[in-house]
Amino acid sequence: MTTRLYYTDAYRTTFTARVVDRSPDGHRVYLDQTAFYPTSGGQPHDVGSLGGIPIVDVIDEDERIAHVLAAALPETPADALDGTVDWDRRFDHMQQHTGQHLLSALFEDLFGARTVSVHFGPDTSTLDLDAESLSAEQLAQAEARANAAVAEARPVSVSFEDAATAAGLRKPSDRGGTLRIVTIETLDRSACGGTHVRSTSEIGAILLRGTERVRKSTRVAFVCGQRALRRARRDFEALTQIAAALSSSIDDAPTAIAAHMERFKDAESARKRMDRELTTFRARERYDAAEPGANGVRTIVVRDAGSMDELRTLAQAAIALPRAIVIGVLAGPPSVLVAASEDSGVDAGKAIKERLARAGGRGGGSPRIAQGSVPDVATAESLVNDLLSARI
Ligand SMILES: [Zn+2]
Repeated sequence: MTTRLYYTDAYRTTFTARVVDRSPDGHRVYLDQTAFYPTSGGQPHDVGSLGGIPIVDVIDEDERIAHVLAAALPETPADALDGTVDWDRRFDHMQQHTGQHLLSALFEDLFGARTVSVHFGPDTSTLDLDAESLSAEQLAQAEARANAAVAEARPVSVSFEDAATAAGLRKPSDRGGTLRIVTIETLDRSACGGTHVRSTSEIGAILLRGTERVRKSTRVAFVCGQRALRRARRDFEALTQIAAALSSSIDDAPTAIAAHMERFKDAESARKRMDRELTTFRARERYDAAEPGANGVRTIVVRDAGSMDELRTLAQAAIALPRAIVIGVLAGPPSVLVAASEDSGVDAGKAIKERLARAGGRGGGSPRIAQGSVPDVATAESLVNDLLSARI
């Protein structure tokens, strides 16, 4: 049984303990007491050092706590070790965790949204609430109330009470025996084994980061203390860059972006319209330049298209004109296109399909437009010559 020093004093960062057990390789060490918090209840483990060796993991094994070391612990005659908890990481977790208790209490009191699970991440922590959704106003209200509770500096205390008689718990505990209860004065009483600050004032700023629907609950992301400051600083820097790019102030940036997007959309549709007009013009030019055959059908050969997309667009514009056939060839990747207007008497799909099969290519299409790829440019050219000499 490991005595958990953090249960009664979350601020304790140094301690001396006796080694009671160790793994054969000396990497996993068990002590009679420890200030190291093991990963549990959604809160990540502490780091620090034990006997001068860095701690890489702390594991809760119910009765005992395993300390996983970066290097093997040498046999020590005294078998007593000094432990030092990394305070920055511990205090950060205390801030996030107490902030979570406060937010869970406020979301339930304000909106009846109960917390179903919590997660403390390396950047952001989250609460899953049994609510269909939360509006931006509700988030702002909860955030304002939480920060007011921080300013009120409400004491946060730990007590050990019998499960049978512990009253006023936010969530009834399903455990018997002695419960460790964390109380935020007049706001919340919750059974919890984690580490917390002693006053809501130490949580520091609380910043809600938005919501996301997860199955039947609403996930709220939040950051407390230094994390909130760091996050706000990054937001400010990003917004400053955005505003500078828009030559506007940060406050005017949303309006400036909306205006830019509107102009961009207009420019896009104008460009597309001009593209279509230009293609029609080019198709008309080639159509006029092609001599009609004996049957009055004009065959337009296109060898200079930049891409299959461009070739298809041109072909579609050309076959909108009377009695037109388009035969196109592309070098990279080697491919052939056939398009035929409705009154040309030609079925583009049929014209290309068999020839492609013979040439070792693949593809197909409709009676109006068809295309296929072939192994190389020479094959593409001979397929085009075949189509031309056969008058399709
Ligand atoms: Zn807690």
